[in-house]
Amino acid sequence: MNQILDKIIGTYTQDNRKRVIDILRDVKREYKSISKLDLTDEKYFKEKTLEFKKRIQKGSSKEKVMVEALALCIRAIELKLGMHPFNTQIEAAIAMQDNVVAEMKTGEGKTLVQILSGYLNALDGNGVHICTANDYLAERDFTENSPVFEFLGLSVGLVRSNSQPSKKRKAYSSDIVYSTVRNIAFDYLRDNIVKRSEDRIINRPFNYAVIDEVDNTLIDEASTPIILSPDEKSSEYVDVRSKDAYMEVTELLYTKLKGGLLLEPITPEQATATFKKNPQYDYFYCMWDKSIHINDEYLSNELLRDAIAARHFLKEGESYTLTYKKDKNGNNIIGENKLPLKKITIIDASTGRIAAGKKYTNGIQQAIEAKEAYLAKTNDQPYDVEFSNGLVALGICTYADFLQLYKSGVSGMTGTSSELLKDIYGLDTYQVPTRKSNVRIDNTKVYITEKEKYEAIVNQIEECYIIGRPVLIGTTSVKESKLISKMLEERNIVHNVLNAENEAYEAAIIENAGQFRSVTVSTNMAGRGTDIKLSDKARALGGLCVIGTTRNKSKRLDNQLRGRASRQGDPGTSTYYSSLEDERVVRFAGKMDFYKDVLKKQQEITEKRTGRKLEDTSIDTDAVDKAQEKDEFLTRTMIIETIKYNEALVKQRKIIYNFRNKILDSDNIVSLIGDILTEFISEISDKETFDDTFSKYCNVNELANKQEVFDSIMGRIDNTSKMNDYNKIMKKHMLKIVDDYWVAQIQLLEVGKKMWMYEAYGKKDPLEYYDLKAYKLFKDMEYGIYSEIISMAINPNQEYVDTNTDTFGR
Ligand code: ADP
Ligand code: MG
Repeated sequence: MNQILDKIIGTYTQDNRKRVIDILRDVKREYKSISKLDLTDEKYFKEKTLEFKKRIQKGSSKEKVMVEALALCIRAIELKLGMHPFNTQIEAAIAMQDNVVAEMKTGEGKTLVQILSGYLNALDGNGVHICTANDYLAERDFTENSPVFEFLGLSVGLVRSNSQPSKKRKAYSSDIVYSTVRNIAFDYLRDNIVKRSEDRIINRPFNYAVIDEVDNTLIDEASTPIILSPDEKSSEYVDVRSKDAYMEVTELLYTKLKGGLLLEPITPEQATATFKKNPQYDYFYCMWDKSIHINDEYLSNELLRDAIAARHFLKEGESYTLTYKKDKNGNNIIGENKLPLKKITIIDASTGRIAAGKKYTNGIQQAIEAKEAYLAKTNDQPYDVEFSNGLVALGICTYADFLQLYKSGVSGMTGTSSELLKDIYGLDTYQVPTRKSNVRIDNTKVYITEKEKYEAIVNQIEECYIIGRPVLIGTTSVKESKLISKMLEERNIVHNVLNAENEAYEAAIIENAGQFRSVTVSTNMAGRGTDIKLSDKARALGGLCVIGTTRNKSKRLDNQLRGRASRQGDPGTSTYYSSLEDERVVRFAGKMDFYKDVLKKQQEITEKRTGRKLEDTSIDTDAVDKAQEKDEFLTRTMIIETIKYNEALVKQRKIIYNFRNKILDSDNIVSLIGDILTEFISEISDKETFDDTFSKYCNVNELANKQEVFDSIMGRIDNTSKMNDYNKIMKKHMLKIVDDYWVAQIQLLEVGKKMWMYEAYGKKDPLEYYDLKAYKLFKDMEYGIYSEIISMAINPNQEYVDTNTDTFGR
């Protein structure tokens, strides 16, 4: 597992602290001596940067230059931003030079660390990407930090997701690029489908990345792949499976098939046993890991798998919403059954925001649409549901495999620690102490019913509201935010609700969450990265009161919310509420009754004795903690599975992209085709296949030896290549061939992941089986690409037929 991200593996331990502190001392000494000179002239700073760059070019290591460079950078920060970096910030930047993650609590100043670390790593002249959690933060930090970088003679660029290509291209050529990992990964995938080399957006190799809130990228987003989809309007690359096929399967699912809910993830072997024991079920689904088990009869029906996922895992109001489709004038668009048309809009799971224009790929979108159309029809609803053209993935990567591209490595900052960074990525964490000790008081409260829980939450909010103490309420969904908001309205508590809004707006509201009498309800991630400053009045009242309405998937996420209170030694409290009816806890259905009984008894006793409600007892939090631990374990398993199963695709993608770039950048296509032909001929050892393949182009019977086959075919190619525009035409053909095969390959590998696991059962290790299958598919693809290229090279005027299309049809 540990080789997966060998680029960002560190062997760091806290033992290194002494060494880091020693370097810090040197930096401070050096800083003293330059600040004495009282130099404020830009020219001096720029020349110094050039000097450092030269020294590194001449072979000095970054470490050798580090002390002087940091001292200079500190001085520049002081001059341009009027802040003197704290020791802890310098310490973090020093540690990060070993490609480790610096853990710094909320409000300790991670934004400034970007400058220190970014500057050090830009000195090799190969560029640094500074990645934040979203576009808004990228722009904010770019705007704040640019003056320092520019003062030091480094160019700075900003890449937003919606920036124009020409703007992006310019930004990417800067020494320092501000963006998000997501944006950059998308641009990377896009660069690998361009038709002309000048259309590429990123024209430098990936060198070094500093990632703020790295836990978000590598843990929260780790099992969601980044998928590049084609423009919906272009008819190239659509999934040809028809609406009828989806509707048919959906109807089958709702009317004929019986499914069972699993409480725990099971292996394919256990699934077989489960089916045997429960012959009445056609499929099982597991809420925990969102896995689906289908019995033999339906196993090969890939659409059914998507339909089951759409039915049980993707719910309206949680994963997506249904809204009326409007024309330009705001009128309803009418569908084929003469009813107004509704469309599916995805809700981003982590932010609760509407992801406008986004669609699910690989059949899930259609499965949801078929489900909603079916439900609308059977429930006699007054609307139709729009059916989309299926989109296939043009390119795919994960955050983790994308980061492997950075040659000099990756480092980052995180506000909350996680063992997963080490366990999964081999990434060490360096804990930076807080500057002032944290005085926040953390509470945990558990209630039996959800109703009691929300009552208690609103009571606490009201208590604060009456005295004017600010409250920040973090919810886990938009639905919950709305519920809380409604309850607050009933009690006439003035408050802000944040959901489905834009990031800049959220930041502006969150910034004021520490003011007198402010009550802010928001989903967990809203306004992340925004510093909540306390007013004097709020401070005197005990500081920010943070309330978590439902425990998150992991303690780390809970701690993220808690961390919003008591920054930099401020007063503050945090309270997490749970009930035994919370979805996560209910999944332990068997155990819940037990806890309920025990709790009820305890409650009665406690109430009798004290007249108070039961809170903060050890037995109650136990159920909730266990549920959360289970989820953490699952996240970990899922990330590891994703990485393992992704490896084959990563390897193949590397080869295909290299091959594609060779074509794109080639000025001598005939010689490249010659290389391809050589490889093609040498790869085939079986006589029958050899004859089958090459008899089309030359008389193989007579030309028994490979050299003669080569000469004969190459002779024909040389001949054809004298035609006008041969290079241009062939380049176009070759790119199209590679792209068509690769798009099909991505689909086959993705589908295979779900299918082969079951095929493999009883035979061998599913992963080993998958890798074997993937390799076989790769060889098939290679054969297809080579033979089509050679055939085109001989006769470039033939109409190219995409013989691959039927693989989508399945
Ligand atoms: P984090 O990202 O770690 O939560 P921020 O970078 O947002 O923290 O910084 C929190 C606050 O501390 C900001 O208002 C910032 O301006 C301030 N700050 C950071 N570093 C310094 C410093 N060296 N001197 C004074 N203020 C600082
Ligand atoms: Mg921050």
